[in-house]
Amino acid sequence: MTDITKLTIAETLGGLKNKQFSATDLTKAYLKSMEDNRDLNAYVLETPEVALAQAAQSDAHYAAGTARDLEGIPLGIKDLFCTKNIRTTACSHILDNFVPQYESTVTANLFNAGAICLGKLNLDEFAMGSSTENSFFGSTINPWQYERKLVPGGSSGGSSAAVAANMCAAATATDTGGSIRQPAAFCGVTGIKPTYGRCSRYGVIAFASSLDQPGPIAKDVRDCAILLKSMAGHDVKDATSVDMKVPDFAAVIGQSVRGMKIGIPAEYRPQGLNEEMVGYWDKGIEMLRQAGAEIVDIYLPHTKYALPTYYIIAPAEVSSNLARYDGVRYGLRVDGKSLDDMYINTRSAGFGKEVKRRIMIGTYVLSAGYYDAYYRKAQKIRRLIRNDFIEAFKLCDVILTPTTPTTAFPIGDKSMSENPINMWLNDVFTVSVNLAGLPAMSLPIGLSADGLPLGLQLIGRAFDEETIFKTAAVLEKEAKFERLK
Ligand code: GLN
Repeated sequence: MTDITKLTIAETLGGLKNKQFSATDLTKAYLKSMEDNRDLNAYVLETPEVALAQAAQSDAHYAAGTARDLEGIPLGIKDLFCTKNIRTTACSHILDNFVPQYESTVTANLFNAGAICLGKLNLDEFAMGSSTENSFFGSTINPWQYERKLVPGGSSGGSSAAVAANMCAAATATDTGGSIRQPAAFCGVTGIKPTYGRCSRYGVIAFASSLDQPGPIAKDVRDCAILLKSMAGHDVKDATSVDMKVPDFAAVIGQSVRGMKIGIPAEYRPQGLNEEMVGYWDKGIEMLRQAGAEIVDIYLPHTKYALPTYYIIAPAEVSSNLARYDGVRYGLRVDGKSLDDMYINTRSAGFGKEVKRRIMIGTYVLSAGYYDAYYRKAQKIRRLIRNDFIEAFKLCDVILTPTTPTTAFPIGDKSMSENPINMWLNDVFTVSVNLAGLPAMSLPIGLSADGLPLGLQLIGRAFDEETIFKTAAVLEKEAKFERLK
């Protein structure tokens, strides 16, 4: 039999149903792959006992004919999702040995559908970053061209690397400014950031609450559709989760895009954009045209303000959300002579450099003297960015862009590590979507001349993930991208 860790979820469910292998066999195969690939540093915690116990239950469900939607599917869980009785750290020193007493809604939904927890995956501390280098546990290595020691992207770099290297069938991830899409693009896998409100944020450690959204990273488009269906849904524990029916996203795969309008934003083609990226974008446009879609030019004129707006709003929310880490309630405590000293010592030792930078920016833009000049203005621009999309979607059904300006870069790349702005530029094509609350997917489209994956992004109307899935499936079929073997 071929290596069962290389199968997609759709194929794996078939194999389990037809008794070609058991959930226990499958889980053991993934645990072996995790062991073989430990050098990648994708997992920060492996949970083999939990996984094997869940696998035994899944096998019992198959035997009893009561298999659920994801019965026996082994997943990696980004360490930003609280998992009951399993250490959860957000890859921050300040959450050292924090063991949640409750389960995030998204992971609960997945496990209630029969999925298996293989372990917790690496990320940039509190999901702040684009390379996974900001993790307290050290960088994850991109499985593509291992010897070059490239970043897997971030913040969900553990998730994208683990999926690409077949160390899980798929993974949970979160996206605040691009953290599902950019790592998916860097690792040649597929990820979707759902519409804000589609998945519950309950139990997902907060970064920037008005932007954060959980979603899947998986081996292909169909697997993302299958996972999202189980992850999504209204949750009374998250007031921003939306009470709407969750469609069967996989049902649209294979439908024609004939007559559909694909928007191409002029602002996403700046002077000097990587030529290979432009080439693949044009190829993607051609594939959809050949499939009968109509290509229309659109304009998103406030795009150039998206990054600066994001880097005011996100840090503002960070400074508020991370105030709770005071050495009293969770994880690390570093004692001091007084209560104030204890706060200072704990927070100084517990947070990494990037997190501190953002807390300081956020505190500044929210302070009495600067609130109007920065925070309020950023909120107004956020509205204009959203309005741009509302106007654009009068002309088109879905928008096609590159996911990132470049391929994966080397760990420790000086131009990135010495100037935070260079790192932040990774998200130039992804942050607008979060500011506008829209759904967007990244899927691999091809390899650069030096053999690294490049991704295209599809952006949809709010709560219209189905059009994204339909269009993505057409591109995927045409691109014939070969996953890492
Ligand atoms: N790279 C962006 C940041 O550093 C986005 C991160 C994310 O989406 N979690 O904020």
